[in-house]
Amino acid sequence: MVPMIVELIAVGDVKREILDKLRQKIEWTFVPLIDGGAVGQPMEMPAGALNQDRKQYNADIILAKVLERTTGDNKVLTVLDVDLYTPVQNLNFIFGQAQLRGRVAMVSMRRLDPRFYNKGGDGELLFNRLVKEAIHELGHTFGLIHCPNAGCVMSFSNSVSDVDEKTATLCKLCRTKIQTTATIRIVR
Ligand SMILES: [Zn+2]
Ligand SMILES: [Zn+2]
Repeated sequence: MVPMIVELIAVGDVKREILDKLRQKIEWTFVPLIDGGAVGQPMEMPAGALNQDRKQYNADIILAKVLERTTGDNKVLTVLDVDLYTPVQNLNFIFGQAQLRGRVAMVSMRRLDPRFYNKGGDGELLFNRLVKEAIHELGHTFGLIHCPNAGCVMSFSNSVSDVDEKTATLCKLCRTKIQTTATIRIVR
């Protein structure tokens, strides 16, 4: 079987150090379902992603661009620091999004950052939130849908307080489901 890795790529201004730390957390969660993580080449923000009226970035345009450059079996997690929206759903913003059972996921730090809410900077709090939402979005690529267990990382978060209330781990049931997905992959 070809090794499957999760490649982390930055779009725009994201520190390499954050990607390295995040890669470790992703490995702790998803190995042995994946063979490991890697930090890939950063990508430029696609032209046309910024919506001038909303002052937000169109996550669908960015995700499509990432998918274009994604080859093989690997999954790609895009990490950004911009305010994201999707024109598909009537939401004011999104923390991130992913292809269900697909290969690409994305997460933005912007609305996870206490400074966005005029609070003091707290790198640790921001990083913990980033880990949760990154694992959540990657969980979607492994076929997981939203979990009713409020403590599970796959529960949907509408706000940072929702993010803070859940853990960074998959509940027992989600773990079972994700393993089933992986088994299907191996059989093929
Ligand atoms: Zn979700
Ligand atoms: Zn769950």
